[in-house]
Amino acid sequence: MKITLTDFLPQGEEITSLSRQIAGQRLVHALLITGEEGLGKKTLARLIAGALLCRAPGERPCGSCRDCLMAEKLEHPDLILISRQGPEGTEKSGKERASIPVDDIREAVRACGVKTLDSGNRVVLIFEADKMTPQAQNCLLKTLEEPPEDTYFILVSEHTESLLTTVISRCRPVRLHPWEDAVVKRVLTERGIPADRAAQVLPAAAGSIGKAIRLAGDEEYWQRRGEVIKAFFATVRRSDILSISTAWKDRKSEAEDFWQILELQVRQLLLRHLGNKDAQLTAGMPQAWVRFADQAPPERFAALLDAVAEARKQTLASVNFQAVVEQLLLIFMGESNQWQT
Ligand SMILES: [Zn+2]
Repeated sequence: MKITLTDFLPQGEEITSLSRQIAGQRLVHALLITGEEGLGKKTLARLIAGALLCRAPGERPCGSCRDCLMAEKLEHPDLILISRQGPEGTEKSGKERASIPVDDIREAVRACGVKTLDSGNRVVLIFEADKMTPQAQNCLLKTLEEPPEDTYFILVSEHTESLLTTVISRCRPVRLHPWEDAVVKRVLTERGIPADRAAQVLPAAAGSIGKAIRLAGDEEYWQRRGEVIKAFFATVRRSDILSISTAWKDRKSEAEDFWQILELQVRQLLLRHLGNKDAQLTAGMPQAWVRFADQAPPERFAALLDAVAEARKQTLASVNFQAVVEQLLLIFMGESNQWQT
């Protein structure tokens, strides 16, 4: 499945007007695409670059002309990619540098002074623009102030606080927002992720397509999740608690994952309590917890979340990890036992 600019339209008016300007060849010379991880910033940047380099009649990027094919592979002679992966920036070289040095920008600026191959547009993509050193940003600033004709700068950044305000103010901002769950679900389905796993990924992904794809394919996460559910939601005998906490005592490095999985599970139970009867919300959960979700008063959900928050706090305060796990297991077992019949 090929992603197109149209796929970004549900993001709202900002993208709609952007694609109108691309179609009308009225795009401003500098864009700054921002937003959290996994929302498609780089994908959008590459699509816009493709649209600027494509010269096919009709909708651009057409996705099949010579310009498009080269642009997609980041091999178009009039496309300059600057990233932490080096000036060639094909993302194949592997090693990432800590920052983007001024030399990369100087080289790009110099290249912008040379005529394009077929007198078409030139695009400079800067991924992780916030990683530019202040010197690099200042060097770029001069060019942003007076961009060469037919040259477009597309900056991508998750952490705009590291960008000079002068750089930001020279760019038109394009902010990506978390996607609707339905969109994330569709992408996962198209990638062959089973429906039950997709449904369970959605709450943790919180609208980030990238995160959803990563989680769905992260076998370690799913194994850990299975362990957390088994330990915290399926333990009913006090005598089992010691053996579980002993088995977990050396896993403090995974603690934050445990807490997040637990919080997510409790929130999913709460969603069911609030009327969402999607069976995926309680997939793999013992019947007692389905009854809890249906019948427990709201403060019980809050109490469990508080208990997890307390466990997190104690872990950070270096309280003995086995003791933290044991305490939390007791709380969950206590709740579980009230809903056994
Ligand atoms: Zn094309």
